[in-house]
Amino acid sequence: MKKNIFLAFFSLLIVFLPLTFFGCSNEENIGKISKNLNSYEITATLDEKNKTVSATEIVEMKNKDNYCFDCVFFHLHPNAFKEGNTQNFAVSSVQEERAFDGEKSYGKIDVLTVKENGKEQEFSVEGEDEHLLKVKTQNLAKKGDKTRIEISFSLTLPKVNHRFGYGEHTINLGNWFPILCVFDGGEWNLDGYLPTGDPFFSKVANYKVNFSYDENFLMCSTGNMVEEKTQNGVKTTTYEAKAVRDFAVVFSKEYDVIEEETQTAKVKYYYYDDETPEIHLKTAVDAINTFSELFGAYPYESLTVCKTNFLHGGMEYPTLVYVSDQITNESEYQNVIVHEIAHQWWYSLVGNNQLKYGFIDEGLAEFSTALFYEKNEGYFLTKDEVIGNALSSYLLYCDVFKEVYGNLNTQMNRDIKTFNSETEYVYLTYVKGLLMFDGVCDAIGEKKMLKCLKGLCEDYAFKEITPEEMISCFEKHSHRHLRSFITSWLDGTVVLEELNG
Ligand SMILES: [Zn+2]
Repeated sequence: MKKNIFLAFFSLLIVFLPLTFFGCSNEENIGKISKNLNSYEITATLDEKNKTVSATEIVEMKNKDNYCFDCVFFHLHPNAFKEGNTQNFAVSSVQEERAFDGEKSYGKIDVLTVKENGKEQEFSVEGEDEHLLKVKTQNLAKKGDKTRIEISFSLTLPKVNHRFGYGEHTINLGNWFPILCVFDGGEWNLDGYLPTGDPFFSKVANYKVNFSYDENFLMCSTGNMVEEKTQNGVKTTTYEAKAVRDFAVVFSKEYDVIEEETQTAKVKYYYYDDETPEIHLKTAVDAINTFSELFGAYPYESLTVCKTNFLHGGMEYPTLVYVSDQITNESEYQNVIVHEIAHQWWYSLVGNNQLKYGFIDEGLAEFSTALFYEKNEGYFLTKDEVIGNALSSYLLYCDVFKEVYGNLNTQMNRDIKTFNSETEYVYLTYVKGLLMFDGVCDAIGEKKMLKCLKGLCEDYAFKEITPEEMISCFEKHSHRHLRSFITSWLDGTVVLEELNG
């Protein structure tokens, strides 16, 4: 995600690197990976009048652990928009003005039935604010066992400018369906939604989504359209995506769309109220080309940028990014496009638990954005300005915070729940994250830094990375001892003036 509180940034010089993509083609990579993944097939209908969605989701999954499962868990993220929540409401009080156009509105997900291999199965909705679905299973007792879980559910959409909900211009379906929780290290990750950060963690899977909706809408979505038909005013569109961590959909009756085919993917921009759509499409094309050159080819066939009613600057989903219509500054609008596209490498391709290590994907997305300005002339910002602004605003933040609260916890490597405010999260995750990766780059040189980032993509594509693994990967690809250096940033002992002064 990109917060819209930000720093001013602007651009410089060009050092184009030779095209060095992965050994295999995109299709070959995805083809190989997708064979062993869980799959979701969702059939859904949008009722525009009542602002509801009814859907059936079939999840085919395999036991990949040496563990005997008697149940599986799914996140029910739409319940973060439910009335009366005590722990996990998606909107904090300071966000309300940007989120709601006037009155507060609520939404939810109701799980109606669950079947396993065609038979009714026992399930329960759990957690403080019903943020989890627990489904019993008798079929995942040992490694290699497979099962098929069918969940029928209905969604009530809130009127809110958020990842999930409808506003004046668009209907946003981000984090809208029951998605499998991640089981790792012998336990389930069952954390609930928070208004801070991107509180999501999921593994790559294959998706097929069939949506029926009023023919006057345009639907933009994760993945590639494989079929579309219209009957009696109802359009039904099928999208497929292989090896992606999530699947988001946006509808609007106001959309225009422009597109450009690049070396690696078809880039589309869905927009309304935009006098310079071609500039924003070009920004997206420049971003995908630059990051493909720097980190390794974008692995999917399409990338969609869509303007939405959204309270933050933007939001990343696999092959689809939101850009907020609340941004009035052109430089910021372009910056958000670049930042969200950088997440296609950091979050989408190389995943991380965003509830624990948000500094990895946000810090890398910010650092990649700074690199983008270094490699592309003619934008509003330069890399030096981006870094300079980040440093001065971070130091100012530290001074003010210390003054007001007496002390300051500058540890980056901590659970999202331990941040006291969105501001603290933004400074320690985005801003200090950017400064840390820039500090590593200064220490080892840009050539080695790019080797490390490319190395992360090669070694951890379609997987998830921990800070420990990231440090080891950086050491492997730079041939430098970086552990104590990076650790001092993460644990908050680094003194910024000395490093950067
Ligand atoms: Zn972000």
